[in-house]
Amino acid sequence: MEWLAGFRDSVGAPDHKTSPIVCFVNPDNSLKYLGGRDDTLAWCRRILSTDSSNDEATVAVPNVDAWNAQHTFDYDLVVIGGGSGGLACSKEAKKAGATKVAVLDYVKPSPLGTKSISMCSSVFTHLVSHVLYIKGSKWGLGGTCVNVGCIPKKLMHYAALLGDYAQESGKFGWQAPTPDTSATTLQHSWDTLRDNVQDHIKGINFGYRVELREQGVTYLNKLGKFVGPNTLEVTDAKGKTATITAARFVIATGGRPTPLSIPGAELAISSDDIFSLPHAPGKTCVIGAGYIALECAGFLAGLKQGAVDVLVRSTPLRTFDQDTVGYVSSHLRDHAGVQLIEGVVPKSIVKLPSGRLSVTFGKAQSTAEDRTEEYDTVLSATGRTPDLQALGLDTLGLTAHPESGKLVTTNEQTTIPHIYAIGDIVHGGLELTPVAILAGKLLARRLFGQGTDLVDYKNIASVVFTPLELGTVGYSEADAIEAFGAENVDAYVSQFVPLEWTLQENPPNCFAKVVIRKTQQRGKDVELVVGIHIASPHASEIVQGYALAMKQGLTMQTLLNETIGIHPTIGEELTLMKVTKSSSASFKKTGC
Ligand code: FAD
Ligand code: NAP
Repeated sequence: MEWLAGFRDSVGAPDHKTSPIVCFVNPDNSLKYLGGRDDTLAWCRRILSTDSSNDEATVAVPNVDAWNAQHTFDYDLVVIGGGSGGLACSKEAKKAGATKVAVLDYVKPSPLGTKSISMCSSVFTHLVSHVLYIKGSKWGLGGTCVNVGCIPKKLMHYAALLGDYAQESGKFGWQAPTPDTSATTLQHSWDTLRDNVQDHIKGINFGYRVELREQGVTYLNKLGKFVGPNTLEVTDAKGKTATITAARFVIATGGRPTPLSIPGAELAISSDDIFSLPHAPGKTCVIGAGYIALECAGFLAGLKQGAVDVLVRSTPLRTFDQDTVGYVSSHLRDHAGVQLIEGVVPKSIVKLPSGRLSVTFGKAQSTAEDRTEEYDTVLSATGRTPDLQALGLDTLGLTAHPESGKLVTTNEQTTIPHIYAIGDIVHGGLELTPVAILAGKLLARRLFGQGTDLVDYKNIASVVFTPLELGTVGYSEADAIEAFGAENVDAYVSQFVPLEWTLQENPPNCFAKVVIRKTQQRGKDVELVVGIHIASPHASEIVQGYALAMKQGLTMQTLLNETIGIHPTIGEELTLMKVTKSSSASFKKTGC
């Protein structure tokens, strides 16, 4: 009793009178008092919960969908959608022990089907008709990322950077192999770039098919639609239908570009079309100012095929750290030559007899200052929307989130226990390839008894591949202030010019920001890093490693006092930051 009295006091439970008295042993051997029998059961239920809104939930309970290995369906698992998430999930399910797995992937052509779009290459316009009819784009296995997303986008981004490098190379002693004194700029062939990019994509499509076959996953190039809780109607390209059944389903159908809703919207192309465009885009109007709009505007301007105007409804990259976005926007404007027209929305697109497109745009609520400009191409990039209706889920009573049109899930499980969802189709998730892949893999392991891990959707790094890349992970400064209070937040900032650019006249500025939360750890004051934002060349490569460090609880003390930089690199700038925003001191770096 003497020992018990002392023990109760030491764990802060002097009033505990019953047996047992249960404590949780923390990693540092300190004890957290849980309570008696009922309290302990309640605690276990909380941490084992699948409710993602519960902070203590750490483990997903597998098999809550009453899985039975002796089922009589055609497949253990059917994955609908063979994109980043669906391919990863179906392959991992086989590895995790599922016997029969199928993945459906079917691409509906982009809405350009029968529409005409203007010709724009100035060379071609003299040779052939002004109007070229293009078919709606369609593509092979692999989904958005490989066919009309990350892969062609990164290659075209690199193509544009190569042009920049070549222009700068004179300062480093390079001369054109056959000097032509009349040519002041490099010439770029859109057709060569597009054909090589498309060939590369076809190689990946083929590789994916081979991989599925080798791993024993059945690939069905068919459109799936639920006609019963465990039954899909599948339709092939010729319209032939059949039904298949499965014990479990994973929906990984992603999204497609959100269509514009203005007169003449059908004259605009989208990211589904740009990477396979049969002709050079020419002078282009980009609608939207998110990831896709600014990335496309950046590489189109870099390829020097024509002027690029961007219609910005509110502000560029609205949800990103705005100080950092400022450097990306300035670079787009001043260096890449993109015109960012802020505070405007498109109002109509009209095809002119010349084949060019006349775009009227202005303030959303007034026509007083509307302007009209002529373009060769209009590229709409105003977000992406899923097509859940086509899946027939409403017949099962599964409805989409009213705002996003996506599926609401808990640990990737919908409200129908044997139907799961991953990737872009998930409400509140991030539309990023690695997120879809990890969600697919971890879900497959959980479903077939090979793991309990959940995706941690916090602190996921991403990069906007604008000519000056924007790498980001964690809170923007504004979001950190909202989350933790202005008095608990500060930011280290640095404006610098990479060594490689110092031979240029008037080189553009780069920028790095580390957002910190002032807090305590083991009784000591620390500056916990809660956000990193970099606008620089290769930001995409730099931010990855720092994201890992943030996952491990990176503090400013570790970054500045324990991490030794690699010199001379852009990555080392983060280890050298001295100036906080609160100090109001100059954050322009001078010297090495
Ligand atoms: P998807 O890859 O979209 O795959 C879904 C597949 O399901 C598609 O093939 C679709 O045709 C098919 N499908 C749909 N309905 C059915 C049905 N009923 N039956 C059968 N099949 C169906 N992310 C990054 O991380 N980095 C980047 O740099 C990046 N760049 C991007 C650039 C662009 C231009 C775009 C558009 C996106 C980019 N993304 C990037 C986002 C990334 O491509 C997506 O997050 C990712 O592809 C989502 O994967 P998913 O598996 O959810 O869906
Ligand atoms: P996004 O980043 O959400 O941006 C949409 C843009 O369109 C915003 O600027 C928005 O303006 C504007 N907009 C929306 N409706 C409009 C309208 N009716 N008229 C004019 N402008 C309008 O979407 P996205 O660029 O299409 O990209 C979709 C997703 O794909 C991204 O969220 C991202 O996850 C993924 N992606 C990732 C990468 C990458 O990782 N590098 C690259 C491309 C895409 P407001 O700001 O005013 O709302």
